[in-house]
Amino acid sequence: MIDNKKISKFAISVIHDLQNHNFQAYLVGGCVRDALSGIEPKDFDIATSATPEQVRKIFKASRIIGKRFKLVHVFNRSELLEVATFRSGNNQTNDDANLIKDEAGKILRDNVWGTLDQDCYRRDFTVNALYYCPISKTIEDKSDGLKHIHKKVIVSIGDPQRRFEEDPVRSLRAIRFSNKLGFKIDNNVKEAIYDKGHLLSSISNARLFDEFCKIFLGGMGEKNFIKLCSFNLNKYLILTDPNKSDFSNDIMIRALRNTDDRIRNNQSVTPGFLIAALLWPILISKCSKDGEINIRKFFRSMDGVLKEQQKLTAVPRKFNSYIKDIWVLQLKLHSRIKSQPYKTIRHPRFRAAYDFLLVRESASRDKNGLGKWWTDFQKNDDSLRGSLISRMNEKSDEESSKIFGFYNELR
Ligand code: ATP
Ligand code: MG
Repeated sequence: MIDNKKISKFAISVIHDLQNHNFQAYLVGGCVRDALSGIEPKDFDIATSATPEQVRKIFKASRIIGKRFKLVHVFNRSELLEVATFRSGNNQTNDDANLIKDEAGKILRDNVWGTLDQDCYRRDFTVNALYYCPISKTIEDKSDGLKHIHKKVIVSIGDPQRRFEEDPVRSLRAIRFSNKLGFKIDNNVKEAIYDKGHLLSSISNARLFDEFCKIFLGGMGEKNFIKLCSFNLNKYLILTDPNKSDFSNDIMIRALRNTDDRIRNNQSVTPGFLIAALLWPILISKCSKDGEINIRKFFRSMDGVLKEQQKLTAVPRKFNSYIKDIWVLQLKLHSRIKSQPYKTIRHPRFRAAYDFLLVRESASRDKNGLGKWWTDFQKNDDSLRGSLISRMNEKSDEESSKIFGFYNELR
């Protein structure tokens, strides 16, 4: 049973108010699933028989949002709840049909109101279709969700082949939930992922960027990436190096592991850092020859790589300069003579670039000690800095001309 202490007081009060106005109202989706699986629920979604306009009237601090999928945001100073009206998901039941599909069966709009039973059958997986009333402390379970939570398995509501045609993003969601919860993916769902995964190419880059963030920046990035690769779906979220070297796979895995570790340690994470790291192998594959980077090509390839990635996921523009800074700083970090290191360390993206250098080094098993050099240089001691630089100044011209040689990474 669910302990109400784990549930947001604000969510309970909103449900109370809706029920006092004679509407049905329940917590639904991820919060119920997570609370029952021993995971701290993070956001609270509410399903109700009230229409968006009726919800809007009850709560002063609320706003109707969405077109494809209309719902109401109800908020107080610190929390925001999504309140969704029960949907029928069936355009035969309503004259004012507003469920629109394209030729491939994909749902373009889903705003046909219905009952709790109907609402349940348009949700994606049984574990996501449990309705909890925190007032009566009862659960409505129309699709064996409780049984599947107990058996730890992700099962589709209805035929997964058809459900994934309606919304191909469900295959990414199945993968994400299975890792988050430690659940198996039911065989029929697995088959549908293999069969219908290619339909992800029809999903807007804006929606795929949202899903990118949930999949890679939710603390389970490494596991999600491995599972995505096993279904060959990674290519819908991130550009991949056609040569698929061990290095490119390794650097992606290590960058994701680094992000997961940061989340575990409550450190900040940004899509910018991760995208810079995930696209690094493809960037250097475009501008390298015989183990050397062609600097001019490097600068020319950056925008092209970002543009290609943009076709997959709509990375907000503000991250572009961040990503390019991290890339360019990788070159600058190699240059350690005269006053250059003092300039580099003052760069606002220095810390991110240094973190990425360490990721690169661990992936390429680089023994050149560049990361160690910068670790030492950051110790704010003038004489140590001076001696670190003078050691570099003494190196032969031939050696300093190798500063841009990414030998291990390119082999
Ligand atoms: P989390 O918040 O941890 O990502 P969640 O299950 O709450 O998981 P949301 O995207 O917040 O995911 O969606 C809330 C609920 O809405 C889901 O549990 C599911 O019942 C339903 N839902 C969301 N997206 C879809 C979809 N693409 N197809 C069908 N039902 C969906
Ligand atoms: Mg949710």
